[in-house]
Amino acid sequence: MSRILMIGAGGVATVAAFKIAQNTDVFTEFIIASRRKEKCDKLVDDMVERMGLSVENKEEKEGHTHYVLGTKPLPLSVTTAQVDADDVEQLKVLFNHFKPELVVNLALPYQDLTIMDACLACGCNYLDTANYEPKDEAHFEYSWQWAYKERFEQAGLCAILGCGFDPGVSGIYTAYAAKHHFDEITQLDIVDCNAGNHHKAFATNFNPEINIREITQKGLYYKDGEWIETEPLSVHKPLTYPNIGPRESYLMHHEELESLVKNYPTIKQARFWMTFGQQYLNYLDVIQNLGMSRIDEIEYEAPLADGSGKTARVKIVPLQFLKAVLPNPQDLGQNYDGETSIGCRIKGMKDGKERTYYVYNNCSHQAAFEETGMQGVSYTTGVPAMIGAMMFVKGLWKKSGVWNVEEFDPDPFMEQLNKHGLPWVEVFDGDLEL
Ligand code: NDP
Repeated sequence: MSRILMIGAGGVATVAAFKIAQNTDVFTEFIIASRRKEKCDKLVDDMVERMGLSVENKEEKEGHTHYVLGTKPLPLSVTTAQVDADDVEQLKVLFNHFKPELVVNLALPYQDLTIMDACLACGCNYLDTANYEPKDEAHFEYSWQWAYKERFEQAGLCAILGCGFDPGVSGIYTAYAAKHHFDEITQLDIVDCNAGNHHKAFATNFNPEINIREITQKGLYYKDGEWIETEPLSVHKPLTYPNIGPRESYLMHHEELESLVKNYPTIKQARFWMTFGQQYLNYLDVIQNLGMSRIDEIEYEAPLADGSGKTARVKIVPLQFLKAVLPNPQDLGQNYDGETSIGCRIKGMKDGKERTYYVYNNCSHQAAFEETGMQGVSYTTGVPAMIGAMMFVKGLWKKSGVWNVEEFDPDPFMEQLNKHGLPWVEVFDGDLEL
């Protein structure tokens, strides 16, 4: 028996839900809660339709909908609920009602701390895929969540941070390399390529607000014990991705670098690279120059929705307004072709000799869509979130405190990646280009 409560019903959550329903030998009770309950019910409908499941039972009770789905090998109990995860009191009511052993946070980085607070108050364990970010400051770092370590330890609870692909699999690849292939890692480059085409003029692959905040930040990398800042997207070079070819790759700050250099102190240089097409960058430039990426509030005279013709002065955040008019990342899957390729390029020492190692996964957008109705970026994040939950439920990743993924044994996780749609490939002693 395992009872998991997932928060969020967006692209990543949809993939995680499909994968949970494919693994009912591990997951037996599943609660999906989000800001809008109808999105949770729509997600259940999509699972039923796309996976060809029967609905054995459906009933409404106390504002929740309870389903029993005819999954194999065992039926899955699914309940949908409404919650505003910005509100700790609402979360506490929800957690106390369902008493989940693990809360899987697939909402937005803004909600990490409120959800962790409610987990502590109600005795629930915690897992997420992105580190905390305050709404009014485009800035992310682990300090806010690491500050919960002692409280989770004292409560005998486990928090698993950053269990998507990057962060997530990138840290697990590094842990696997350190365990099996190196005595000492000295250089780490995480390389993230999306060579897919969604045939839209401009769209982001996950939540547009979070995505644009991340990309427009200054770059940051680690060298010889210091963090070096670069102007946004100013450092770039072509890197060759397997089955894709060369793609211009841009140095960016990414959260897992912070925990990886702490957990692997032999690392002298750590960087993160992501590919962008020229058209994407041109649009981003225009968006910034127009002021549409601003995250401060502006006043705007808006007509009332009651049709009275009256207007009111309202406050809007330009980037949140932009999100409302951009394509929804969840709707990109249908015509998305091409692949993602994400991996770690590592240099270090083994038995007194320098060696290089490249471990990566390529994921097809079309294959992801056929299975889950979502594109590859949601898929590569939702699958590791499910595997992280599986590691916890099986007792393989379970210790009191707050942990980044590389602090657990990578082997059982790597084994599951091969079984659940994200197989990995290793290249030894090749040219890393870096
Ligand atoms: P979406 O915007 O598609 O989904 C977010 C979901 O959370 C939506 O269902 C949204 O509700 C819900 N939500 C938002 N605010 C609240 C709230 N206050 N209370 C309850 N529910 C809320 O985002 P994605 O699925 O693309 O991304 C999910 C997470 O995954 C993000 O944190 C993102 O940063 C992370 N991510 C991590 C990656 C990795 O590799 N580690 C890669 C990609 C994403 P509604 O539908 O009503 O808007």
